[in-house]
Amino acid sequence: MAALALTHNLHLTPTLPLKATKQHQQPKPKTLTITATSSSPLSGRKLRAAVIGGGPAGSSAAEALAAGGVETFLFERSPSTAKPCGGAIPLCMIDEFSIPLHLIDRHVTRMKIISPSNLTVDFGSKTLKSHEFIPMMRREVLDSFLRSRAQSNGAQFITGLVTDIEVPDFLSSKPYVIHHTINNRKRSLAVDLIVGADGANSRVAKVINAGNYRCAIAFQERIKLPDEKMEYYHNLAEMYVGNDVSPDFYAWVFPKCDHVAVGTGTVCARRDIKVYQRGIRERVKEKIKGGRVIKVEAHPIPEQPRPRRVRGRVALVGDAAGYVTKCSGEGIYFAAKSGRMCGEAIVKASEGGERMVSEEDLKREYLREWDNKYVNTFRFLDLLQRVFYGSDVGREALVELCGDEYVQRMTFDSYLYKKMASGDTWDDVKLVLNTFGSFMRCKVVGREMEALKLPLFFFSMARKKVEWM
Ligand SMILES: Cc1cc2nc3c(=O)[nH]c(=O)nc-3n(C[C@H](O)[C@H](O)[C@H](O)COP(=O)(O)OP(=O)(O)OC[C@H]3O[C@@H](n4cnc5c(N)ncnc54)[C@H](O)[C@@H]3O)c2cc1C
Repeated sequence: MAALALTHNLHLTPTLPLKATKQHQQPKPKTLTITATSSSPLSGRKLRAAVIGGGPAGSSAAEALAAGGVETFLFERSPSTAKPCGGAIPLCMIDEFSIPLHLIDRHVTRMKIISPSNLTVDFGSKTLKSHEFIPMMRREVLDSFLRSRAQSNGAQFITGLVTDIEVPDFLSSKPYVIHHTINNRKRSLAVDLIVGADGANSRVAKVINAGNYRCAIAFQERIKLPDEKMEYYHNLAEMYVGNDVSPDFYAWVFPKCDHVAVGTGTVCARRDIKVYQRGIRERVKEKIKGGRVIKVEAHPIPEQPRPRRVRGRVALVGDAAGYVTKCSGEGIYFAAKSGRMCGEAIVKASEGGERMVSEEDLKREYLREWDNKYVNTFRFLDLLQRVFYGSDVGREALVELCGDEYVQRMTFDSYLYKKMASGDTWDDVKLVLNTFGSFMRCKVVGREMEALKLPLFFFSMARKKVEWM
């Protein structure tokens, strides 16, 4: 393909890396000369990428980019603070992202799910195998580990707030300019492409006009419990459902290193979040009696992917893209996975940082791959949330179903390993019947089931062995 040989010099204040790594000890060039159009070779330099946001999504993207030969800058405004988060990750993430076991605070081997009428089901003690557990991590520990690893793979880490992004024209090959502040001093950096990993309030998403998504609000109190109360939560996490704790989600008590996180979330009644927080505190009041609140935090949780996730040479990953599953509110694994997939896609399309990439490359190598792998999982969990969290009848049925060992095994297989749960056809049929039984017992009337095509859906699930989480 004939290159347009567009030359564009930008005179910018160079941003120096805080920690120089072997391959980046040369002084940074003040200009970025772009003489390439999409997929044409770059002459005498490597592709240069800025990753905005140093959470699991950004660090994983930066690691993959730098390891694959792309000159990579990772921006994080606040590396010393911890993102408000429950910190539960699936077991497969430990191997897949080589997370050292000593960084894990708690090995949760028991989950309780508690219905509006206080029907309690113990989830896991019988079904989890002896080596299986749900790892609970502190985000400050996980994030700092992933950031350090990106650095040791060659990414240049910048503690700075990105304040503005200049995109002259999404269709041209001109550089994009990242304006940022380091210790209140203004800096700029020209790059070939941007990975937006800056979370639910993404600035990068606004720049590419990515469109809005619905968000839940999650509220959480960290409570330090007296030793004997903490002992109860040693390896136990609790999920509460009911109109008193959330009209459309669940509330939780998750054990952390030396305290518990007690929280709840909602999409449809965000203004009342504190009412629901009082609801969960009321439900667990005996269990947290004598506890001291050490931190209160709230943060949006995206509810659906953004209408646009790639534009020009800009791609969104993690929460910025909207990759949090409904039903479980799980986003850490999907953030890290999308960051890594996006980084690897850019490395592949740029042939190890030797060529320019285009919007088509990003869509083909990253977006299409992501959607093929996960779109059904996200849709499935969306449907489950609407069926089971929408009314107390559905919630009672959900808890009752969770007592079924087969449901538990399918759920854990899919959650812990993020792979297709291979079910047994006979057990799948029993599950369908049990689901009907639970709903009938819980007096669900036909209209909701009809509207959601529940029978068809469960039969197709039984046939396809869709992922459960
Ligand atoms: C209360 C709560 C509990 C949760 N519990 C769980 C759970 O138990 N398990 C689970 O899997 N998920 C959980 N989630 C969801 C999970 O926290 C997110 O899905 C995950 O953090 C997404 O990672 P990310 O890297 O995409 O974004 P983030 O973790 O939000 O990281 C974005 C980073 O970008 C930085 N940044 C933003 N703007 C700028 C800028 N302009 N310049 C420089 N840096 C910037 C931020 O400082 C931040 O570090 C929970 C969420 C909430 C709110």
